[in-house]
Amino acid sequence: MNKTSAPQFSFEFFPPRTPVGETKLDAVHAELAALGPEFFSVTYGARGTTKVGTRKIVLRFKALGSTMTPHLSFGGSSEPEVEQLLEEYRAEGIDRLVVLRGDIPSDSSSTVTYRYASELVEFIRLKTGDHFHIDVACYPEIHPESSSYDADIGFFKQKVDAGANSAITQYFYNADAYFNFVENCAAIGMDIPIVPGIMPITNFANLSRFSVNCGAEIPRWISQRVMAFGEDQKSISAFGIDVVTRLCERLREGGAPGLHFYTMNQAKSVKQIWQNLGLSE
Ligand code: FAD
Repeated sequence: MNKTSAPQFSFEFFPPRTPVGETKLDAVHAELAALGPEFFSVTYGARGTTKVGTRKIVLRFKALGSTMTPHLSFGGSSEPEVEQLLEEYRAEGIDRLVVLRGDIPSDSSSTVTYRYASELVEFIRLKTGDHFHIDVACYPEIHPESSSYDADIGFFKQKVDAGANSAITQYFYNADAYFNFVENCAAIGMDIPIVPGIMPITNFANLSRFSVNCGAEIPRWISQRVMAFGEDQKSISAFGIDVVTRLCERLREGGAPGLHFYTMNQAKSVKQIWQNLGLSE
């Protein structure tokens, strides 16, 4: 499987939009920090809209002793603006980034030009050398805008060739998609750690909607089981924890070099899955 030193377990947050959301996230961070993850990452809004919010959360939890990894995209910012942010992060002791093109908002009125993640990886290496460990995104079930599986893997390789150190996948519920993807990446010479992104199943309606847009497939057997639970949220939650725990077990048994949890700023399911996997022992 992929080359790595120690398995890496990490959690992802998004910057809250309200003071109430921030207070809630403080509590979630405290609960999850107690589990001892390698790092927390914080997403960066489309068009750079959360530039301030992302940095604020990164610095807030860093001050509490957590290792923090901001996400970053050009998102319509100029090169000098991005360079300034990189310098600020470097001065603040941040040494790892998740580098992306970013989601393109659905309203087509925007005049922003979205630059590929590989261009930002190149830019960061040019401006800051090897200072940052760079993670990039990849898609075992293919990025929805890609013309083909091979083209998508080829563009993923461009990011690695530009200097990415490791990758985090889009979430998926089919372990074979991941193993097959990793094998295909290895076949064209990529040997960086490819860490599975794990999405707990909590709000199923939101998850289904989001999955259509991001190209992640929810297997029919999972949606059928969830639908059969109707409004019984407790059963949906227990089923979701069981399904995702088994997925993580299979990934770990198959040699996945860690797990990155999309927490959706909630601790409960992630914490239960983490405990089921015995990761804190
Ligand atoms: P890229 O690698 O640039 O690829 C985008 C598309 O263009 C793909 O279809 C690719 O195959 C194609 N492509 C790449 N290079 C070329 C080229 N040279 N010529 C032609 N086509 C090319 N979104 C956010 O807005 N903020 C976040 O913080 C965020 N965090 C994420 C974290 C992870 C781990 C993941 C998996 C996704 C995240 N996303 C985030 C979503 C991501 O921004 C979207 O999936 C976006 O549509 C693609 O981003 P990318 O970095 O993979 O893009």
